[in-house]
Amino acid sequence: MAKQKKRRGSKWIKPTRATGRKKERYCRICGTTASQVRIMKHENICELCVRELSRQKGGKLACKGCGKVVPKQVRKYKGYCKDCICRVCGKPDPEYCQKTGFCRECSKEMGICRVCGKEAMAQVEKNDGLCDACAKKLRRH
Ligand SMILES: [Zn+2]
Ligand SMILES: [Zn+2]
Ligand SMILES: [Zn+2]
Ligand SMILES: [Zn+2]
Repeated sequence: MAKQKKRRGSKWIKPTRATGRKKERYCRICGTTASQVRIMKHENICELCVRELSRQKGGKLACKGCGKVVPKQVRKYKGYCKDCICRVCGKPDPEYCQKTGFCRECSKEMGICRVCGKEAMAQVEKNDGLCDACAKKLRRH
């Protein structure tokens, strides 16, 4: 699958834009300077280290669930990013939370389908976390 390049200019210092004071910024992990590689503005971590951290899903700088590098969130949520934490009970459940925003139990309790995020209490109860439409689709595949 071809990865689409996300345009999030504000989050990164690009080498071409690293002028003046920004030029002195460097990656706090490997020490590469902002004039050589893109560096995450708020965290001072370079693109290459971000990629490596994301692959490792270490739970210190990158989320244990999805690998997103968001040190502040990971610190706050004990190893996970906010997208992998249930908005109701605060429990980490990457698989469910990425889809519905809630963990398995809370999704079920609220009747939210874990695939499409639709609220359909009776259906979700019956299909073990899925609405009728999604249950049908999954069964067919
Ligand atoms: Zn680095
Ligand atoms: Zn995550
Ligand atoms: Zn929950
Ligand atoms: Zn559904």
